[in-house]
Amino acid sequence: MNAEKLAARPQSGIGDDLQRHYALTLGRDDAGCSHHYLYQALVLTVRDRLVAQWRVTRERYQREPVKAVNYLSLEFLMGRSLNNALLNLDIQPGVREALQAWACDLEAVEDEELDAGLGNGGLGRLAACFLDSCATMSLPVTGYGIRYEYGMFHQRIENGYQVEFPDRWLRHGNPWEIECPEFTRRVLFGGRTEFYRESDGSQRARWVDTHDVLAIPYDIPVPGYRNGTVNTLRLWKAEATDEFDLEEFNAGSYTDAVAAKNQAEQITMVLYPNDASEAGKELRLRQQYFLASASLQDVLQQWIARRGNDFSEFAAHNAFQLNDTHPTVAVPELMRLLMDLHGLDWDRAWAITTGTMAYTNHTLLPEALEVWSVSLFGELLPRLLDIIYEINARFLGEVADRWPGDIERQARMSLIQEAPEPVVRMAYLGIVGSHSVNGVAALHTQLLKQGLFRDFHAFSPEKFNNKTNGVTPRRWLAHCNPRLKALLSDTVGNAWIGNLEQLAALAPRAGDAAFTERFLAVKRDNKRDLAELVERECGIRFDLDMMFDVQVKRIHEYKRQLLNVLHVIHVYDRVQRGDTDGLHPRCVLIGGKAAPGYAMAKRIIKLVNNVATVVNRDPRMRDWLRIAFVPDYRVSTMEVICPGTDLSEQISTAGKEASGTGNMKFMMNGAVTIGTLDGANIEIREAVGEDNFFLFGLTATEVEAARQSCDPSAIIAGDEDLARVVNLLECGHFNLLEGGIFEPVCAALRAPGDPWMTAADFRSYVDAQRRVDASFADRRAWGRMSVLNTAFSGRFSSDRTIAQYRDEIWRTRALPVSAHSPGVGPAVGGAAP
Ligand SMILES: *Cc1c(COP(=O)(O)O)cnc(C)c1O
Repeated sequence: MNAEKLAARPQSGIGDDLQRHYALTLGRDDAGCSHHYLYQALVLTVRDRLVAQWRVTRERYQREPVKAVNYLSLEFLMGRSLNNALLNLDIQPGVREALQAWACDLEAVEDEELDAGLGNGGLGRLAACFLDSCATMSLPVTGYGIRYEYGMFHQRIENGYQVEFPDRWLRHGNPWEIECPEFTRRVLFGGRTEFYRESDGSQRARWVDTHDVLAIPYDIPVPGYRNGTVNTLRLWKAEATDEFDLEEFNAGSYTDAVAAKNQAEQITMVLYPNDASEAGKELRLRQQYFLASASLQDVLQQWIARRGNDFSEFAAHNAFQLNDTHPTVAVPELMRLLMDLHGLDWDRAWAITTGTMAYTNHTLLPEALEVWSVSLFGELLPRLLDIIYEINARFLGEVADRWPGDIERQARMSLIQEAPEPVVRMAYLGIVGSHSVNGVAALHTQLLKQGLFRDFHAFSPEKFNNKTNGVTPRRWLAHCNPRLKALLSDTVGNAWIGNLEQLAALAPRAGDAAFTERFLAVKRDNKRDLAELVERECGIRFDLDMMFDVQVKRIHEYKRQLLNVLHVIHVYDRVQRGDTDGLHPRCVLIGGKAAPGYAMAKRIIKLVNNVATVVNRDPRMRDWLRIAFVPDYRVSTMEVICPGTDLSEQISTAGKEASGTGNMKFMMNGAVTIGTLDGANIEIREAVGEDNFFLFGLTATEVEAARQSCDPSAIIAGDEDLARVVNLLECGHFNLLEGGIFEPVCAALRAPGDPWMTAADFRSYVDAQRRVDASFADRRAWGRMSVLNTAFSGRFSSDRTIAQYRDEIWRTRALPVSAHSPGVGPAVGGAAP
């Protein structure tokens, strides 16, 4: 069957194709049923259908040259793809039917898929949600990333400690990807710059004596929701060139030459597991440049293939979105490619670069602001360092014109920080080289403008804009919560899947007792699934009548898992004292990975586990309090966790969490939030109404003002409950046979000027938790709040976010695949079939 025909009939022949792939493509006996090979055969069956629509989409984009967007990111936290593809292609019923012949259920087959864990946390997952929204909105957007052989490490808990295991996710191959060696690009490292004169007298530069690495693209299809669009995620793998080996080979050292391949191939070997902090390692800079260079060359080559060497309209037809500073080396790289390879002069190249680049900032934490040592940069990317110096000289010239004689300002704004050792400031490079700089929540953008990037905001205020994050409702509601999906569609129709704002129609039903009962019944079923996961993974029984209180996210001091633990200890202490008035029984779930080098974060994991051991063992706690640490938190576990959560913990120190997206997933699934005025929490509270959000804690302004003078020991001494909690910690109650292991945690808690303000927010947090208890005890009241959270989660769909990127940064438009094409339903905004 040809592609068009296959594309036109996605439901037909699924059973036959499954059989064929199982027996012929994979060469397996179709006697028994191996879930593993059935999974592989099913992916191939689905992929056939995607590939057909993929080609139709590509041709559509080529026919009509609307501006194409390239989303450059070192991370794409995709999770699993099978269920999402079945949902978006609308072939789940056909697949279920076909699987009956194998006496297998779909869920068991889906469980064979390993998560594509090519990211750390929020930033990487955002990129994945964006790809889903772009495809669903028929936008010509390509994701560019790295095909790490080893993704995010797996976490196991041994004796309460985190232990890391490598994630060899490609071990059994990846049936979703298609290798495209015909689009191999060559990436240069090392060497030196050589200047020469062109025959017309102009001075030019070339980069010589380089050590080259090949970049091989692997394409992964990104299907839109029932609209016939299939976009592309292109991931690069590093391979050695043949020449790389040849030099040494000719010198007689054959084995050394072959071994040298390793160095090139190391570039895409492993994802750096640091979330919101930078390692400063040479290999990391290699990864960044490898991605930026390969992707830019790819886009330029496609342009040249169609338009020749005329770049006058390039910026009107291309955009690059830089996901954090990680790929900002793309700024000087595009300058280099345009000038050194394609002969443009500086001014034309600069107009194209700033006209196409846009930079998204993801954090205010100083430790996350990337800088690269000038000496390392000069060794690894000498030609780019020349260009950065030139960008800086011209830029500081403009600053000097604006503020003559203001030398301090020039030093503050320089792309090169001179002391203590000269470094390149990647965020500043991103700002200067882009036409758009955006934060990811209203508060975050405001803090960027008045704090971190104040001088740049004064210089070019028009560049700065906000794009509050969002999450895709396909994965984070329709797929992960089929029970709620059915109830919602039964109540307001199913158009919400493509237009989440339609859930607002639920709001009038929040006061309807029969409806909230149905809503709570769904929650209870989801809690059963979550309890099963907890029992399987942690060996701890969660009771469905208790409140499920959940905090899952990367472990970081600013996210304040420690504050959560202090509350747990406080509840434990209350129950021990018999002070259970107004207390509601809780099951507390905490999960998340710590960066392997982040000692404090790892110690907090150990603390959670030790507290869990003491609490869960104590028979007096049984009816009041249980606590578990879920290991190896990842996308596929979040898909079970957020539907079964009652209370969502979003308790970061105000002014530290740029946006958060976990908060949005919980909200969509009807969890009520306890949180600070930080990141997107502020907008969540605004959307759902202050009565339906448990607010506590200092504001960002108060944190800034109180920090220096903050004296945690005085706060502890002045609060009896907190004093008792800290005393339990300090007297070793949770580490009787492990003397002193929590001393660093206690010291941090008491540190004068504690930047995380844990002690300072304790009282307010505990009071808010008391209000939570009271509300949860009132089933009607809680049901109402829960419904309203789902109802008003519409603005946190990444479709809304992407519509804003589309209109305000990219200025591109949709190219829907024509209506006679397969399985095409109305896109976002229309009624889904
Ligand atoms: C959504 C998500 C995150 C981000 O969570 P925050 O609470 O916003 O930090 C991190 N990891 C995974 C696996 C996620 O799904």
